[in-house]
Amino acid sequence: MDITTTTAAGLAKAIKEKQTTSREAVAAYLGRIESHDGKIGAFLNTYPEEALKNAEEVDARIAKGEATGPLAGVPVAVKDNICIKGKTATCSSKMLAEVAPPYDSHVAEQLRKAGAIVIGKTNLDEFAMGSSTENSAMKLTRNPWDTQRIPGGSSGGSAAAVAAGFAPLALGSDTGASTRQPASLCGCVGFKPTYGMVSRWGLIAFGSSLDQIGPFARTVEDAALLMNAISGPDRRDSTCTKNAAPDFTANLKDGINGMKIGVPTEYFNTDGLDSEVRAKVMEAIETMKAEGAEIVEISLPMLEYAVPTYYIIATAEASSNLARFDGVHYGHRAEEPGNIIDLFSKSREEGFGAEVKRRIMLGTYVLSAGYYDAYYLRALRVRQRIADDFSSAFKKVDVIAAPVSPCTAFKVGEKSQDPLAMYLSDIYTISANLAAIPAISVPCGSSSQGLPIGLQLMGERFRDADLLKAAYAYEQATGTIPQIAPLG
Ligand code: GLN
Repeated sequence: MDITTTTAAGLAKAIKEKQTTSREAVAAYLGRIESHDGKIGAFLNTYPEEALKNAEEVDARIAKGEATGPLAGVPVAVKDNICIKGKTATCSSKMLAEVAPPYDSHVAEQLRKAGAIVIGKTNLDEFAMGSSTENSAMKLTRNPWDTQRIPGGSSGGSAAAVAAGFAPLALGSDTGASTRQPASLCGCVGFKPTYGMVSRWGLIAFGSSLDQIGPFARTVEDAALLMNAISGPDRRDSTCTKNAAPDFTANLKDGINGMKIGVPTEYFNTDGLDSEVRAKVMEAIETMKAEGAEIVEISLPMLEYAVPTYYIIATAEASSNLARFDGVHYGHRAEEPGNIIDLFSKSREEGFGAEVKRRIMLGTYVLSAGYYDAYYLRALRVRQRIADDFSSAFKKVDVIAAPVSPCTAFKVGEKSQDPLAMYLSDIYTISANLAAIPAISVPCGSSSQGLPIGLQLMGERFRDADLLKAAYAYEQATGTIPQIAPLG
């Protein structure tokens, strides 16, 4: 069998039925990374010895009939802002370049329990701030479909890893776009669960009221399998659900006959929406109609406020979350400071990159006395209005369909000098984080230049399983599993 083109579900089955072994699977993926990641740059680190050893242990347990979990023996890549005991979690920042957390994140524990094998950690925009992975202080990641172009961000490394066939599954985090937008630009599935569905324990915080860990996969079923492994209650994250997670595969294949799909007019009339992206997303909606869904035109008028609201709330939270990186509590420490204030400021000056500094300054400003009411409090009120928009929409429809990104993957360097242009990449995705609802990006074709395009589906809070069902039905109707990028 060709291991690196098999889905995670297919690979898990083959390992369980002893058509292959986890060791062979891990070796095949590591081999592909070794040959090709030089031109993609998806990984910051791989763990060949440990991964092979863990794979052998899983194989031994499978031989004894012990390890039967749905991901037993399957390789997974993990974004480098998620803690794994003893491994650096750099957030692609000089600030954390040498720090290895002494504990596992909740999701890392869950992966271990499921028998999944972590093969390496992936590149991101520094502290997950960005839309192209160009803000990484470590390296550039390139889009596997066109290496002149960016893979999206901030989880660009995880998306590129799945699209390039370096791992069948990966974890990312999504504060405003970061699983869906890179998935859309790289041609794989990226899922942001309902806020609280997956514990954030051990995810290095960016915007705590927005951050969610989520899966990357080549198929919706694979994403559902990974969700089964990582979701559910965890008392170490007070915002995490108290309810047992559903089985995300249970009703996955039930179809969408009679399901109401809302099409928000505003999302298709914005300036800057690429005509090819628009056409492919409309075509996808037609496909869902042909599958028996009812298409309902709806209005989400608060769309135009999403980007400014997010960039106030996310930066406010980031400025507070990143205050701990001062060279004393955490992070890089400057050498030979003149005094304690100098130590803090030099450590932060040296440790953080330009985008992170910009956001800390913006966030500190909107929280400062005199501006707090005018910016931060007002943004919180607008956030509520955005959430209300969705609540009214979900009285009429089950799922909302929209584009993910206004354009396909852009060229390396094209937007890196223009933060506002970069921020507009998130126009269609940010509202889901502000409203705490689940949202997914599913491949829906490619542009005339061969660049992937994603369809976004958004669902009601904690109805993640229904959302995955809709995405699955669409994916099956198209009849194709997204290909792995040919890397030569
Ligand atoms: N692009 C958005 C930002 O820069 C979202 C990033 C994310 O989801 N982590 O903040």
